[in-house]
Amino acid sequence: MIEIPRLNFAHLPTRVESLARLATTLDGPEVMIKRDDQTGLAFGGNKTRKLEFLVAEAQAMGARTLITAGAVQSNHCRQTAAAAARFGLDCILVLAGAAPERASANFLLSQLLGAEVVWAEWDTRHEALQKAYEAAKDAGNQPYLVPYGGSSPTGACGYVFAIQELMEQEIQADWVVFPSSSGGTHAGLVVGARMFGFGGKILGISIDENEQDLKVHVARLASDTAAHLGEDFTFEPDDILVNADYCEAGYGVLTEKEVEAIYLFASLEGMLLDPVYTGRAAAGMIDLIRRGVFNRNESVLFWHTGGTPALFAEKYMEFIHPK
Ligand SMILES: *Cc1c(COP(=O)(O)O)cnc(C)c1O
Repeated sequence: MIEIPRLNFAHLPTRVESLARLATTLDGPEVMIKRDDQTGLAFGGNKTRKLEFLVAEAQAMGARTLITAGAVQSNHCRQTAAAAARFGLDCILVLAGAAPERASANFLLSQLLGAEVVWAEWDTRHEALQKAYEAAKDAGNQPYLVPYGGSSPTGACGYVFAIQELMEQEIQADWVVFPSSSGGTHAGLVVGARMFGFGGKILGISIDENEQDLKVHVARLASDTAAHLGEDFTFEPDDILVNADYCEAGYGVLTEKEVEAIYLFASLEGMLLDPVYTGRAAAGMIDLIRRGVFNRNESVLFWHTGGTPALFAEKYMEFIHPK
């Protein structure tokens, strides 16, 4: 294994807790939760683990600016802005869409954390990011491009070592269930499972991608991540477990299923999920439990990837309101 430079600012290890009341209500397998919503960086989330490696790489390259892109309510952008502030770097966020009438939630926090926002049209967001990068470079601001969702081999290392952390916590689980989107979390988890001998099945619930495309993407990123760490194994699409049955509504579009999951976790466990990612993944997990896909004598670890500030986004208010 090659040693990859890393900073240590996340609050680790994150806790593993039992979701006993949820499990009893669903009358299915044991359910646990890994609290990566509590990674400590400006409300935390899964991007914090990735940023420990990404910011270390940026510093090693002499960067003075972090530049990245995402949706208006991007958790990734919020955590990147916080990491930049923490290490005295500038931050430029290229956001797809238009400035909302009223800043709220992640978008508000990213600005509070000092990020400069550049607006892009959805269709030309990749070009806009490239343009903003070149402009920062020409201005002598030495930008480091943090990939979408922090999902490069460097960023995915955060979740390789999250598996090592889980094993040091002596947690056994037959299934690990979590939201999968830009694939860095998923890729890191499967590489970590292979490297450290974790036996549970790693099942990503797709947020916005069909099953085959996400499998191909995660397999490639996982293979690249393994190579980055000096390991000689690779992954094929069929090595990657993806369930894409819950993403039909599209990215960030709430349906009854997400809302039900959010209310079940809140009312049975006092646990907050986010509307875009963990709400959807939990809805998937709940449905799979109800349909008996997991055996009753198995255990399921739900990996909470954060995102809870989006509960306060103006955009989702009409969906998530007390009935
Ligand atoms: C980004 C994000 C994800 C998806 O993680 P990827 O590594 O991009 O697949 C899941 N949950 C939350 C809350 C996120 O912000």
